[in-house]
Amino acid sequence: MADAYLSEIFSSIQGEGPHVGRRALFIRFGGCNLSCGYCDTGYARERTPSFKIFSDSRSSGEREVPNPVACREVPRMISDGPDLPDIVVMTGGEPLLQADALGEIAGELRMRGCSVHLETNGTLSENLESVRPVVDFVSMDIKLPSMLGGIDLNDRHAEFLKAMEGLEGYAKIVVSESVGDEELDKAARLLASVNPGLPVYLQPVFVGSRPDIGARDLGRLQARLARELHDVRVSVQIHKILGVR
Ligand code: SF4
Repeated sequence: MADAYLSEIFSSIQGEGPHVGRRALFIRFGGCNLSCGYCDTGYARERTPSFKIFSDSRSSGEREVPNPVACREVPRMISDGPDLPDIVVMTGGEPLLQADALGEIAGELRMRGCSVHLETNGTLSENLESVRPVVDFVSMDIKLPSMLGGIDLNDRHAEFLKAMEGLEGYAKIVVSESVGDEELDKAARLLASVNPGLPVYLQPVFVGSRPDIGARDLGRLQARLARELHDVRVSVQIHKILGVR
């Protein structure tokens, strides 16, 4: 029986990736092992004394619950709160830092008929192995060094891509105006060497409700990645455009 440090639970639409537009319940775990310059969930990078459950996507009807919470309590809290959609998204922070807790909560929600989607920074391959039986879909980040103050995670991403084989999912590369051709080429070679068929979503950093990089530049980056990869898509986070969580 594990305990979890959560950041928030809320119901909204999935704003990115192949399941964009579908209603989903988001369970955001607290704590992260990275420090990305573009992080838009800074409040979830550390474990906090409590977390919030929102009853809808506009943040009304919230209540606060102390951390850590017993995992067996989380499904009950969810049925007391937002209606349970078909998809439950385990996000963060970095949810795989709490793999035992994630596995326990995901297992219970799957028994209720939910499809469990995992959003991860793609650095903790061993932890992915441990939750593999209860995860249906994986959104994995490929972090470019320019987004991480020069830190190169390619080796860890390579391990993660191998661990992901056989699971449904995609890779996401977040880009800004400052992205370099060389780091993008390196990411493309990495993906091509492990799983060239994996869909890759090229996603711009947002400043407010606008992407910080224009359509022409995104098209150029897409073409560059497509020299190595079969399925590269440009995508934006629609929840930011719509102004929902
Ligand atoms: S991995 Fe995600 S949560 Fe962690 S710092 Fe980067 S963007 Fe933020």
